[in-house]
Amino acid sequence: MKNELVKITSITHATPDVLHIVTERPKGVNFVPGQATEIFLYKDSWENEGRPFTFTGLPNENHLEFYIKTYPSHQGVTNQLLSLKSGDQLIINDIFGAIAYKGEGTFIAGGAGVTPFISILRDLESKNQLGNNKLIFANKRKSDIILRSEFEAMLQNNFTNILSKEKTKEYAHGYITEDFIKTHGNTLNSYFYLCGPPAMMDAVENQLKNLKVSDEHIVKEAF
Ligand SMILES: Cc1cc2nc3c(=O)[nH]c(=O)nc-3n(C[C@H](O)[C@H](O)[C@H](O)COP(=O)(O)OP(=O)(O)OC[C@H]3O[C@@H](n4cnc5c(N)ncnc54)[C@H](O)[C@@H]3O)c2cc1C
Repeated sequence: MKNELVKITSITHATPDVLHIVTERPKGVNFVPGQATEIFLYKDSWENEGRPFTFTGLPNENHLEFYIKTYPSHQGVTNQLLSLKSGDQLIINDIFGAIAYKGEGTFIAGGAGVTPFISILRDLESKNQLGNNKLIFANKRKSDIILRSEFEAMLQNNFTNILSKEKTKEYAHGYITEDFIKTHGNTLNSYFYLCGPPAMMDAVENQLKNLKVSDEHIVKEAF
């Protein structure tokens, strides 16, 4: 795909460090739920600095939607996004991605790693095909949970949160373990979709292997 300029129609904070950005959708920008694009700032000296971000809306909507965790300490693209406002423009180009829905299972996300699952789960919901899919979502604190109310309404008891840096009455505390996956995940012969920071991905993938989940049933993308 050639570079496409897209105008931001809304930019707000979804959590303390995650931006929710909605843009216009140019004709010809087509994606499958789970796919990402490269985003560039439309700003001098930043136009060659592309970073991958995932489409989180539905493929048939007339806007594009992103949830983007910002890292001010990196002094990179996500820090620059913090100063943008409605009406500003972004550049998007290639569309790609390793995660696509293959069948019922367990989605395991760490932080912004939930983004491919937002579009996949919204798409399944829109087609009445959510079935018994489950989401295990690991975050530091309750305030970091992206789209908490939407996932609660959508998945009800199939939505499980675990927080590493905050103890609450409603959610588990600590890190994901094999026992946690056995208790809150789907059957071990179904699909496991995994997306998050590399350290979390390595740990959970090892746990899945110890639980004898086959390689063909592990669908993953590192952030
Ligand atoms: C396919 C794919 C899809 C993705 N989709 C999303 C999404 O939808 N939402 C989302 O939030 N994220 C997503 N990500 C992750 C996202 O791309 C990165 O968080 C983003 O590229 C960070 O860009 P940045 O310019 O702010 O920082 P970086 O490019 O990570 O860093 C800029 C510079 O900061 C320095 N730096 C790097 N790490 C550190 C550190 N720990 N401390 C200090 N300095 C550092 C380095 O010099 C680096 O060159 C996705 C990733 C992939 C691969």
